[in-house]
Amino acid sequence: MLIAPHNLSVDPLISDNLQRLRAEVARAAGAAHRTVESITVIGVSKGHAAAQVRAAAECGMRDFGESYLQEASPKIESLRDLTATWHFIGRLQANKTREIAERFDWVHGIDRMRIAERLSAQRPHYAPPLQVCLQVNIGGEVAKSGIEPAMAVQLAHSVSTLPRLQLRGLMCMLPADLSHEDNRRLFGAMRTLSGQINDAGTALDTLSMGMSDDFGDAIQEGATLIRIGTAIFGPRMWPANE
Ligand SMILES: *Cc1c(COP(=O)(O)O)cnc(C)c1O
Repeated sequence: MLIAPHNLSVDPLISDNLQRLRAEVARAAGAAHRTVESITVIGVSKGHAAAQVRAAAECGMRDFGESYLQEASPKIESLRDLTATWHFIGRLQANKTREIAERFDWVHGIDRMRIAERLSAQRPHYAPPLQVCLQVNIGGEVAKSGIEPAMAVQLAHSVSTLPRLQLRGLMCMLPADLSHEDNRRLFGAMRTLSGQINDAGTALDTLSMGMSDDFGDAIQEGATLIRIGTAIFGPRMWPANE
């Protein structure tokens, strides 16, 4: 009888991708005089099956991000046996907040008080406070969600008073295909804004910024959570929609 090695199910593509990613994160961290421990990689699994998440978990990943509740709910359900931290990184709609408050550990896209109040009211009493970030429209794009930077100090203060949320920091997505200089300038503006909020008395310890194409620049500017999909899982197998 053949004995299957423990890691027989590890997907070689995912484990190679993760190895490469971890080396790149370490290089960027070193260049910024930071430790790799100060940076957590969220594996963005939208568009990929539960089996891919399991393969990444077998390579040591613990944090996973999803953008669409309909896709995420059955996936999270089928992976209940994993020790995983689930991050909701998609657009927030008021009619979805209850299930998000029940299923996720973190929510990154808070951009208005009404949504924050609903999440706080709907967070189950048996769960720890929901960890949240405010999404900032740092690139000033008309069509992108997120608050204007000038509104962030006030919203951070208001959200920090909600009993069932724990405000951790700021999140952004940059416009695609900017130069490294522009990435650095905008991620740097996020870091400055976070400092202003701290100075105003609301303690933040998290900057959720950087994706497959720009995480090196984000790490240079202080990212503590990077959200990586394609560079871990490859091209998404189904288009995102809800
Ligand atoms: C899809 C997505 C990501 C991951 O993007 P990749 O370019 O595949 O790494 C990160 N953050 C958010 C908010 C996303 O929607």
